[in-house]
Amino acid sequence: MNEIFIGIDLGGTNIKIGCFDSELKLICKTAVATEADMGPDVVIDKMAQTVEKLLDDSGLSLQDITAVGIGTPGPAKYSEGVIIKSTNMPKFKNVPICRMLNEKLGAPVVFDNDANVACWGEYVVGAGKGAGDMVFFTLGTGIGGGVISNGKLVHGCDENAAELGHIIIYPDGRRCNCGQKGCVEAYASADATAKRATEAVEAGNESSLKKVLDEKGKITSKDVYEHLAAGDELAREITDGTAKALALTCISMLHITEPKRIVFAGGMIAAGEPLLARIKDFFNEYIWTLKKEPVEICFATLGEDAGIIGAAALAKQARDEGKYKSG
Ligand SMILES: [Zn+2]
Repeated sequence: MNEIFIGIDLGGTNIKIGCFDSELKLICKTAVATEADMGPDVVIDKMAQTVEKLLDDSGLSLQDITAVGIGTPGPAKYSEGVIIKSTNMPKFKNVPICRMLNEKLGAPVVFDNDANVACWGEYVVGAGKGAGDMVFFTLGTGIGGGVISNGKLVHGCDENAAELGHIIIYPDGRRCNCGQKGCVEAYASADATAKRATEAVEAGNESSLKKVLDEKGKITSKDVYEHLAAGDELAREITDGTAKALALTCISMLHITEPKRIVFAGGMIAAGEPLLARIKDFFNEYIWTLKKEPVEICFATLGEDAGIIGAAALAKQARDEGKYKSG
């Protein structure tokens, strides 16, 4: 019988679920509201029912599942399958999600940090394919990260490694959501980019973005790169700030893990080639010349399905490594 891997992306707002074949090709997918306020029992129950319905709609059943992978924000004890707590889901405290879902689905369940999962997806079937050593950033509300060294995700001694968004690039710089000052996240996430643009316009800098702020009451990262494309000088400066912060972080990561490829994902990459080109420019400007050549810097290719693809890929990997007995 063909193998079926289920990939689940558990977020504070939505639960995305995908069903994949043994080649990690998507068979079908769906999404439901998380309703995290209902608590873990209700959410996990809904997750299981949604998986069952998704399979049913494709003429499959729970018995067809080879394994299930889940990605969700930390902190968590991933190897033990337990969510310790969750900023987006306050009622999730010490939730043994793998065991609970395993009891409902009857299949092995593995999980990891959502950024690690997206990183793994890009590594297995996306922009990082064949890289062996890879560094991954996801640029959204914050900056998530993943590191693959010798073909394996780096987890660290307490399983919270690769918090790349909190690498300090400017000591005593802007205050980050984490409490530190000068983290790359405080400069280059989609939210930080929008915030810097808003502050610059409010400070009286000339820009076509002023009209956006006046009309909508806020500036988004999408506004910034749209106005960049239209030739706005302030949008260019703000984008340069984002690109430089990311380039400096890339250089630090290059010296630590020596990746073959550095992959950026998340909302900000919709800015496209103008952003990527500037990251490369700053990287080449600041890098120690001996290290310049080997690394490739690129954008992710899996888009919004990275979470479910990565989760399914994680489940497949755990099976391949014999971490559980295949049902
Ligand atoms: Zn931080």
